[in-house]
Amino acid sequence: MLSEVDIAIIGGGNAGLTLAAQLAAQLTPPTTVVLEPQTPEQRDCSWGLWARQSQAQQLSPATKGRWRRWQLIDHRQRVVHCSEQFSYLSLSSANYLQSRADALRGPVSLVQASVTALNYDGDRVVIETDKTQYRAKKVYDSRPPTLIENGLRQHFIGWHIRTKKPIQEPDVATLMDFRVDQSRGLHFVYALPFSDHHLLVESTVISNTLEPSEWYRTAIETWLSDNNIDVKEIISEEMGVIPMDTLVTEQSATEAKFCGQVSPIGAASGAVRRSSGYAFQHIQQQTTELAEGIAHGRMAVPTPISSRLTMMDTVFNGVLNSRPDLSVSLYMRMANALNGDQFARFMLGQATALDWLRVIAAMPKLPFLAQCLRQLRHD
Ligand SMILES: Cc1cc2nc3c(=O)[nH]c(=O)nc-3n(C[C@H](O)[C@H](O)[C@H](O)COP(=O)(O)OP(=O)(O)OC[C@H]3O[C@@H](n4cnc5c(N)ncnc54)[C@H](O)[C@@H]3O)c2cc1C
Repeated sequence: MLSEVDIAIIGGGNAGLTLAAQLAAQLTPPTTVVLEPQTPEQRDCSWGLWARQSQAQQLSPATKGRWRRWQLIDHRQRVVHCSEQFSYLSLSSANYLQSRADALRGPVSLVQASVTALNYDGDRVVIETDKTQYRAKKVYDSRPPTLIENGLRQHFIGWHIRTKKPIQEPDVATLMDFRVDQSRGLHFVYALPFSDHHLLVESTVISNTLEPSEWYRTAIETWLSDNNIDVKEIISEEMGVIPMDTLVTEQSATEAKFCGQVSPIGAASGAVRRSSGYAFQHIQQQTTELAEGIAHGRMAVPTPISSRLTMMDTVFNGVLNSRPDLSVSLYMRMANALNGDQFARFMLGQATALDWLRVIAAMPKLPFLAQCLRQLRHD
C-alpha cells in the first residue's frame, strides 16, 4: 500500500513529535505522518533544561522535578545559584512525548513503523518502511546522527534511588560535583533530588572513550558513600551517550542527494550544544520556527544554534581536550562569574553581551588564545 502525504517526519522523538504537534495545532494542517518504531515508554529517560516560569508551567504535566536553586562543587568551593526568572526542570521524556502524540489530530498522525529506505520518484520522495510506503513532498529526518569516531562525547549511567534517610537540601539540584575520580576525562556527578527520599544520581564523563558500565556504577557508589547517603532501593538505571563533537551526518548527504527535499531536524541538524550536551530548548525553538514557516509555505529548516555560538563552544571543547588539567576550573570559574539568571541564560544560548564579557573575563586567556590559533590554522 502507498499513502500520499505533504510531509513525512522520520522519528517521533523530541523534534519529530514536537513539530508534528505544532502542525496539528494549525488552522489547516498539511497532511503529515510521523514514522517512529518505538513507544514513548520504550524511550523513557530524564531530560534536564532551564525554563522561564511560563514554559515551566506548560511543561508541568511531564515534569518530574523543578528547582530554583542549583549548585556546582569542586574540592575547593561550592557555588550555589538561585534564580528568579528560571527553573531547572527534569522531564520524563516518555510523558513529554506521549503528550505531544496525544495532541496529534486531523491529517497529522503517528504510525509505528521503522523507515528502511528513501527513494526519489519524480518530484516526490518515497519512504519505505517495514510496514508500508509513503510518498511525500517533503521529508524531515530526525534519526539520530552517526557518532564521529573518537569524537568528544558525554556519557553517563544514572540510578534512581530511594534513600534510607531524608536527603539534605532537597531543593538544590547538583549539576556538577567534581569531587570524583578525574582519571578518565572530565568526570562529575549530577544529582537531582525528586523528593526528600528519591534521588537521581548520574556519573557523567566528558571524554572520547566510553568506560565499562561497572566503572560508572562504582563511581556512583563511591559518591553516595562519600556523601553519607544510604541506599534503601535502586529503583531504575538509565544510561546515555550524547555527541559533543562535529557530527558526520548521513542526513546531510541524504539532503544533498534529494536536492533539499529531505532535511535533518533536531539533534541530526546540530541542535545539541557542544559545550554542554543540552538540546531540548534548541529543538523547541527550531520546531516552533519551522512550523510557523511551513504555515507560510517556507519548508527550510532553521539553524538550531548560531554558527557563532557553535564556534565558541568548539573553542571551549578544544581547551577541554588540550588542557584537561584546567577543565574543572573552567566550569567553576564560569559558575562563579555568573549569577543564577545569567548562568541559565548562558546555558540556554541566550547570553547577553555582558554575560559573555563576564565569562570571557573569568577564563584563563592563554589557553583560549592558543586554541583559537590552532582552530584558525585548522580551518
Ligand atoms: C540519554 C540521553 C539523555 C539526554 N539528556 C538530555 C537532557 O537532559 N537535556 C537536553 O537538553 N538534551 C538531552 N539529550 C540530548 C538529546 O539528543 C535531545 O534532548 C533529544 O532527545 C533529541 O531529540 P531528537 O528528536 O533530535 O532525537 P531523538 O529524541 O533521539 O529522536 C529520534 C527518533 O528517531 C527514531 N528512529 C531511529 N531510527 C529510525 C528509523 N529507522 N525509522 C524511524 N524512526 C527512527 C528513534 O526511535 C527516535 O525516537 C539527551 C540525549 C540522550 C541520548
